[in-house]
Amino acid sequence: MDFRNGTHFINGRLTSGWFCSLVVLLIRNGVLVTMDSQRRILEGQSVAIEDGRIAEIGSTAELEKRHSRAEVLDASGRIIMPGIVCGHTHMYGMLLRGASLKITPPSDFTQILQRVWWPVDEALTLEDAYASALVACVEFAKSGVTTFADTYSGPNSISGVLDHVARAVDDVGIKGFVAFEATERHSRDEGFKGLQENVRFAERAKSNPESKAKPLFSLHASFTVSDDLIREAKALAQKYHAPITIHTSEGTGDVQHNLENYGKRTVERLNDLGFLGPDVVLAHCVNLNDHEVGHLAKTRTGVAHNPMSNMLNAVGVAPVLRMLERNVKVGLGNDGYIFDMFENMRAAFLLHRVHHKDPNAIDAYTILEMATINGARLYGLEREIGSIEPGKKADLIIVKPDVLPTPLNAQSAAGHIIHTVDGDDVEHVLVEGKRVMKGRKLTTFDEGKAQLIAQDAAGELWKRLETAKPQVDSFKK
Ligand SMILES: [Zn+2]
Repeated sequence: MDFRNGTHFINGRLTSGWFCSLVVLLIRNGVLVTMDSQRRILEGQSVAIEDGRIAEIGSTAELEKRHSRAEVLDASGRIIMPGIVCGHTHMYGMLLRGASLKITPPSDFTQILQRVWWPVDEALTLEDAYASALVACVEFAKSGVTTFADTYSGPNSISGVLDHVARAVDDVGIKGFVAFEATERHSRDEGFKGLQENVRFAERAKSNPESKAKPLFSLHASFTVSDDLIREAKALAQKYHAPITIHTSEGTGDVQHNLENYGKRTVERLNDLGFLGPDVVLAHCVNLNDHEVGHLAKTRTGVAHNPMSNMLNAVGVAPVLRMLERNVKVGLGNDGYIFDMFENMRAAFLLHRVHHKDPNAIDAYTILEMATINGARLYGLEREIGSIEPGKKADLIIVKPDVLPTPLNAQSAAGHIIHTVDGDDVEHVLVEGKRVMKGRKLTTFDEGKAQLIAQDAAGELWKRLETAKPQVDSFKK
């Protein structure tokens, strides 16, 4: 595609100038946060959408004249921006919100896994996978997330589980990469079973191209997987042309495990195994040194930064500024914690400032890039989504701040997104031109029903957890 000089070629055809009979939706007169390479934020702009893609952007007067017969969605006093990309999540985490578990309080991240998350994993069922994914997709959609990357974990609900997750994704109508998180926590066999579920789903995806759930490969973390499993997972992801993800140096236990068992740090081990690359997304990367950041830069490996989860688990602050200085791709995730990505953006903005004791440590626009175009880059989708440019898929949101004490214009929009806006301010959501949310109401699924399904599943899960035992990491080299 060539978008130069206002002339657009899509699939080899000249499209500028004869959209008037084809454009089906005109979003008019908003403050347009393009997230393009020139970082343009434009006032009084309209966006013309045809066949699920952005056909044209331009001044409202010009586009209204050209597309007089299109359906109009008024964005006056509103922000038009790309749909948000959540680069790392666990939708099943939804079922634990507010749970009061009777456990000995954990004192570090490894104990959080052993006493909270691993018993939850053990107790999960296939129905829980659907229920949690359904309510998570509803919350994502309602707060402006149009694409996410999810990994599910549950040693007693492996085979077929990704079909249940995918059904929820398609019920709600946003887009998601879905994966089963392979781990050898209990046995080598468990690890290969987990991978096999990803293979099964990748095969199914070939015959189901209409589904909005796409295959992702996932490994839990370097301290619960062997070199063999890492190599096998990488080879399978490449075979299926799917991205692959692994939790990396989230707590210090990961680094210690690799130093003790392999004589090298986590990213060094992954690099030596040939695992790193542009199709790889490492979640967290809190405990990395400069040498490891260099490996990420050299191999064009992506990182999903999860500031709110890192604060919740008290694991520390990822060296995001150093990564950005080295041009490492850094996107933003929620790690299954707070699903409103505007809150996660605000947390990232504040965290790096206080951590570096520098009020100029990171700016609002850089955070916005992490949540949009850089999130798209993590998964190789930067030519399709992540910015509002002609030819790209029409994944975009319209935001109407509920309270707006100062003017909204091109200069203030990025600041308002970080300091003013919450997920509840997202008014309309479009996924490939389809209106998934209109005026705060989902068009695809009954929100109340989704909540009831999730509440029932969570109640049963909490009962099962009352008798659950802590899980100890039995994996050794
Ligand atoms: Zn995670």
